[in-house]
Formats: sequence, C-alpha cells, structure tokens
Amino acid sequence: MGSPLNESPASFARDRRQAMKLAMIYGAIGTAWVLMTSGIPVLLVSRAVAAADLPWGQALSGLLVVLATSWMLYLLIKEKLEAASRAALQLRLRDRALESSVNSIIITRHDQDTNPVVYVNPAFQRTTGYTASEVIGRDCSFLLGDDRDQAALDAIRGALRDGREGQALLRNYRKNGSLFWNELHIAPVRDDQGEITHYVGIQNDVTERIRYQHELEYQANHDTLTGLPNRNLLADRVTQTLAYAVRYANPVAVAFVDLDNFKFVNDSLGHQAGDKIIKMAADRIKACIRGSDTVARLGGDEFVLVLFDQTGENTVGEALQRVLATMAQPFHVGAHEFHITCSIGYAMFPGDGDKPELLLRNADIAMYHAKHLGRNNIQAYFPALNDQIDQRLLLEADLRRAIENDQLFLCYQPQIGLGDDRVIGVEALIRWRHPERGLIPPVQFIPLAEETGLIVPIGAWVLRTACEQAKAWQRDGIAPLRVSVNLSARQFVQKDLVQSIRQVLDETGLDPGMLELELTESLIMHNAELFISTLRELKALGIALAIDDFGTGYSSLSYLKRFPIDRLKIDQSFVHDLHTDSDSAAISLAVIRLGHSLELRVIAEGVETMQQLDFLRSNGCDEIQGYYYSKPLPDDELRQFLAKHNVPGVR
Ligand code: C2E
Ligand code: MG
Ligand code: MG
Repeated sequence: MGSPLNESPASFARDRRQAMKLAMIYGAIGTAWVLMTSGIPVLLVSRAVAAADLPWGQALSGLLVVLATSWMLYLLIKEKLEAASRAALQLRLRDRALESSVNSIIITRHDQDTNPVVYVNPAFQRTTGYTASEVIGRDCSFLLGDDRDQAALDAIRGALRDGREGQALLRNYRKNGSLFWNELHIAPVRDDQGEITHYVGIQNDVTERIRYQHELEYQANHDTLTGLPNRNLLADRVTQTLAYAVRYANPVAVAFVDLDNFKFVNDSLGHQAGDKIIKMAADRIKACIRGSDTVARLGGDEFVLVLFDQTGENTVGEALQRVLATMAQPFHVGAHEFHITCSIGYAMFPGDGDKPELLLRNADIAMYHAKHLGRNNIQAYFPALNDQIDQRLLLEADLRRAIENDQLFLCYQPQIGLGDDRVIGVEALIRWRHPERGLIPPVQFIPLAEETGLIVPIGAWVLRTACEQAKAWQRDGIAPLRVSVNLSARQFVQKDLVQSIRQVLDETGLDPGMLELELTESLIMHNAELFISTLRELKALGIALAIDDFGTGYSSLSYLKRFPIDRLKIDQSFVHDLHTDSDSAAISLAVIRLGHSLELRVIAEGVETMQQLDFLRSNGCDEIQGYYYSKPLPDDELRQFLAKHNVPGVR
C-alpha cells in the first residue's frame, strides 16, 4: 500500500486540470487524503481511492469522511468569503459615508504628544479651504490660527487627556484667514487591546447659527435705531463701571439726557424725521464723551450717560456742558430746521447712591428738575428733589382725571379797544379746581400737561368750551365778542388740528371770525417754515391769529411779514416794567411800531396801572388787557363786568 503522499501534491494537482486549490486532510483512517477544489462545487478525490489500493469498506467510509469534511470546509470557506465581502462592502459604505458627509471629518493618529492628521474628508476641504495633502501630518490645532487663548479648548484638551469623547465650540480660521465657528466633537478609536490609536473629529461649521445668535444678542442689548446700548446693556455697564470705580476709588456720574422739544418734531414731521433727529442727537452725544464712557438710549428721546470721572478733573461737568451745547445747535432735516435743546440731570456715585437702579432713578429725578427749571440746563441730584417728584407724579395722576371729573373751567379776561374803550373780546384762560388743593393756576399744570401730552385733550376741551361759551353769550343777546384761545405747541402739531377746529366751529355754530388763536412767539418762530402752511390753513378757515408774549422770542422780521397773523400781544413783562426800565419801554414802543408797519393790531397784556395805560394809549397801542380793567372772570362775573361797561345786550 503506497502512501497517499508518495506523489507530490503539485504534480497531483497538475493531473487535475480544474484543480485550483489543494489541502491535506488526515482522515480517521490514518491516511492522508487530498482535497481538491475546482471552485464550487468542490471536487473531492481521494488519492487512496483513486489508487484503489484499499478495501472497499474502508475506502467507502474514508470517502464519506472526506465528503463530510469537504462539505464542512466548503461551508466554512463560503462563510469566510461572504464575511470578507460583507466587510469589504461595509468598508466601502463607510468610506463613502465619510467622503460624502456634509460635516468635516478629521482622523488623527494618537501619538505621544501630537495628533497628526491622517485623513480629512472632502467636506473638510470645502469648509476650511485646505486640501488633504496640505493638512495630513499636521497637528490640527493649526486651525486655531493665532487665536489660541480660547476657554472652550479646555474641553478638548481634557477629552484628549482622559481618552474620552469631548466637544467644544471653537473659533477656527479658514485657509483664507476668515473666521468660522467650529462645533467640534471628538471621539477616541481603540485597538483590540483597548489602546487609543486614533481620534475621529467631526466638525460642524455653525458660523451662520452663531452669527444669528450674536445678532439676536446684539438686538437684545442695543437700540436698533442708534446702535447704542439699550436699557439691558446699560444696567450691565453701570454695574461694571461701579465695580471698577470701587476698585480705583473714583467717582462715577450717571446722567439722564432728555430732548426738550422732541415730541413736537415727531408730531409735526412724523416719525421718520423724528428718527433722523434721534440718530443725529446720538452721534452728537457720542462725540462729547470718551470712548470708554457709555451712552445708552432708553427709548424715545431719553439717553443715559455713564461717565467715569478722573478725580479732580471735573471731566463729568465738562462733558455734560458739551452735550448741552451741542444739542442747542439747530438740527436740519430736509429743508426744516429744528431747535431741540436738552435737559440733563445727573447723580454721582457714591454720594447719591451706591446701586445702579438708585443712581438711575436719582439722575432721572434731577433731569425732571432741569425740565421744571425751564429746560436746556443741567441739574445735579439732591435728596429734597424726591419730594418734589412725588408731588409731580401725584399731580399728573390727578390731572388725568381732571377733565372727566369736571374740575377744569375757564375764566375770561376782557380785552379793551383803546379807540372807544369798549370790550372787543375776551381771552379764555384755564383754571383747575382741585378737590384738595383748591384753585391751581395754569402755570402750575400747563407745563406738566405739555410734557405728558395731556395738553391735547385739555386743549381740545378748552377750545370747544370757549366756542360754546361765545355762542351762548350771543344766544343771550350779548353783542358778539371774539374769544381768544391759547394753543400749545403740542396741539399745534396735531395732524387733525385744522379739521378739528373746523368741526368745533361747525358743531357750536360759532362764526370763525369770532375765534382767535394765540400762539407763542417761540413756538412759531422756532419752526417758522414748518408752520406757515398750517397758519395759512387756519387763516383760510376765517379765524384770527395772534402772537402771544411777543418780544420774548427771537422773531425774524421776514417771517413776521409772511405770517398770516392779525395781532401782536406785547408780553406783560415789558408792560410791567414800562416805568422802571427804559429798555422795556423801548421794546414796547418798537413792538407797536413794528406791528403797525406790518398792518397788524397791537394789544398789551398785563396792564395794571393808569400810568401804563396812558403810556400805551399815547403811543398808539390799539388794545389792552390787564388787571387795570379786570382779572380773568368766570362766566357770571364776566356778564356783570360787561353790563357795567355798557356792552350792548348785557342784562
Ligand atoms: P398768557 O396766555 O400770556 O395769559 C396771560 C396771563 O397773564 C394770564 O395768566 C393772565 O391771568 C395774566 N394776566 C392778565 N392780566 C394781568 C395783569 O394785569 N397782571 C398780571 N400779573 N397778570 C395778568 P394765567 O391765566 O395764569 O395764564 C398763564 C399762562 O398759562 C397763559 O399766559 C397761557 O400761556 C397759559 N394758559 C392759560 N390758559 C391756557 C389754555 O387754555 N391753554 C394753554 N395752552 N395755555 C393756557
Ligand atoms: Mg395768551
Ligand atoms: Mg401772554
């Protein structure tokens, strides 16, 4: 019996033309068998069988063993092949996934001290601008550029140190140097022994999201119109500045700046013009302070400055003076020129408060005080102001209820024509009968009403009441008296002013010629161009127009000529001083001459004495109004006055 291995397997294989693989199998029968495969199905041939030198039984069982073993081998190889092809497919898939991922993927090798890049996908190139060949072998920290002092880097360093996953939001820089926000996630890759061999990093370019977040943050902290810090950011800035001031023992000023005639611009020219002026005002204020100081806009026409004073240099006082001066310069919007001015109040840290809210509140109170003192000035806070402000707030609340509670009423002051000493008209003057405080004169509440806008409904009430009253006198048979009504700036710029006056005249049935509107000189002269058309419309209704308190403003003669006015009212301060101050007498005379040369009538108000009356009469003044003849009177007393002065129709 020859050994099955007598013949070399190679030559045996050559005998079997289809043979592709050979394997040696040692069967249970102690004989070496040769397994031949020619691909699939497997061709098994026992060399022993082929040699036919075994007994049939043994050969058959050997053959069975060979067949069974071959079948097992076949299954084994098939499974291995399939696994290999599955693995290859999976690798291809993963490779494809890496390549086509929209996120940048970096694989780095984990060396002792560095993590050199071994792979980057195409998205990495798209995001960073670097090609694979430019980055392979480099430590990927090069993406940080010079911006290496980033707190978020600690999270990545910690993850590398501890061999765990980690993530961080980093500022990275593209090849062209531009910044992108990288939301980086890293994870370690371990070998069979659990040692870290690589790190996989996934970069997410979140620049857009961060930009949007920053924009939202910016919007939440800045005023959209001026770009200045808003109330939110102001609170932060004050807190920071105070902390700094404590450390360096320096004073800090918190100042409120409020534009004086701003509502007036908004009401007259609309919000677009108002916005332009606010922007200009913001720029002017910024130009008055140092870059390290803060100017914030609280909304409307209110600004807050936080000024860090360098001890002893009075930088605060100087800066606020600069703001006051710059705001007093005219503002130009289109063809219009506005005179705005501002009122400033400030509180000092630590003297006037040690908390931001308290300083802001006290500066606000000081600003109200500045308004109260006639605007266009700067006031420092002092504790007694608190009481005044509380009073003011109480008064405002009461005034809001005054109309509906029927607490307002009108008095009428007669105006006498000097030609025949007859009553030619009356001026309607408002009074407030306060339930607790008694009678409150207009000087105490009209400025408040103007500031708060309450003057609009109050003024409308005055106009209607005065027209109704004038009509009532006529109905009662009194010879027609012209009634003069004072119009405030806020009313004058109401869009529906002309229309609402026409409506009142229609509804009360008063002849327009029996109504006169009094406008102060400063109101119309400051905004002359703007108001000429409104004045003309009012004139076209048939009503008369007078300039009140004339001589106190800065009238331009050329405007006066163009204005459709009927009367000048010499301000009572000049009349009062006629005999004590030669300037007042000269001004009164000049107003009379000016009025006449412009063919206007001239009335002097505040005439209290015979001397004043004589002076005015002898110098050609047309009419007078004053205590000499009568104080402003309620309706019933006025009727008695008219009866005494032989005004026809008075019973
Ligand atoms: P005005 O329009 O210049 O009114 C003249 C003021 O002088 C009135 O004060 C009047 O009572 C006062 N007066 C008249 N004759 C004399 C006099 O011989 N001597 C003195 N010392 N004073 C005299 P009143 O009523 O207190 O009004 C003050 C100001 O309040 C008014 O000045 C006017 O600007 C404003 N005002 C009054 N009523 C109204 C109103 O209905 N609407 C608006 N917007 N303002 C009003
Ligand atoms: Mg008046
Ligand atoms: Mg007056």
